[in-house]
Amino acid sequence: MGHYCRLCGQIRANEKFSGRGHRDHVCRDCAQRPAAWRDRLEELHHFLEQSNISARNGDRLKILCQHHDPEIRALAELIADIARVHPRKRRRVPNLARRHPPLFARMTTLLGDAWWDAFWSDRLDLDDEWLYARWEAARAGNRADENPF
Ligand SMILES: [Zn+2]
Repeated sequence: MGHYCRLCGQIRANEKFSGRGHRDHVCRDCAQRPAAWRDRLEELHHFLEQSNISARNGDRLKILCQHHDPEIRALAELIADIARVHPRKRRRVPNLARRHPPLFARMTTLLGDAWWDAFWSDRLDLDDEWLYARWEAARAGNRADENPF
């Protein structure tokens, strides 16, 4: 069993982490990327942790949607779209799965395994079986397309 990197969102082998990287949940590849790149990813992930994504956050997201790095731009565009239709964190994922399937499908791949592992570990409710089924179907559909990065 590997370890997750909270920046690239991948579960990676233990040898992909330094001692410090293990503690910080940042793999060696991401640790080697520029600090500015890591800061932007952290900033973007933080928006999703907030109970609400404000209009002011929306202005910031618009700027990040112009970022030169395609990975940051894709994540910023995803979060800006989420903020437009569901700024509140509460019930966001099930509501998007029901009402905005294409956006939900983008979430299933762009947010990465680590994000989803954390999400599912908080939800062991049997009522969520339908959500898990939709998540699996969305991921399977996405894999048929090209990798976004
Ligand atoms: Zn990484």
